[in-house]
Amino acid sequence: MSRPKFIVDAMLGSLARKLRIFGFDTSYYKTGEDSDLLRVAGEEGRAIVTSDRALGETAGRRGLLAFVVVGRKDRERIVSLVEQAERFHCPLVGGDPLCALCNGSLSEAKRENVRGLLPSKLVAKHRRYHICEECGKVYWHGSHWNRLRKIEVLIATSKRT
Ligand SMILES: [Zn+2]
Repeated sequence: MSRPKFIVDAMLGSLARKLRIFGFDTSYYKTGEDSDLLRVAGEEGRAIVTSDRALGETAGRRGLLAFVVVGRKDRERIVSLVEQAERFHCPLVGGDPLCALCNGSLSEAKRENVRGLLPSKLVAKHRRYHICEECGKVYWHGSHWNRLRKIEVLIATSKRT
């Protein structure tokens, strides 16, 4: 099965950003009605990620794949996502990171390419960068990135089982 695409409901914005960094094509459904979310999920072939059990059940009745995540922290939510993915036989294999803000593709950039885009102190500290091809957001491999990679280990572990 190919890598799932997600649509994440409004209450789970930080989880949506993490899924993008792990390389999952993820829409974040900030506003609007559940009925619109269900329609977009169907039209775009996206699996729904929600913490709303009733929404998950409605999605299931319509033949849509829905992950109902539990937990208050994203780490717990990701664990529950991984567990359900195994039950659905839909393993979560991450890909190249996507932009956390807009879901755009990232390309690698060198220090000289980001000079002027970031504070010079920061540019002096890091070597590797990614730039979003859509919105221009710059990412660097610092502490935030490393923290996220730790969560990614969970997803990598699910690959092997
Ligand atoms: Zn972007």
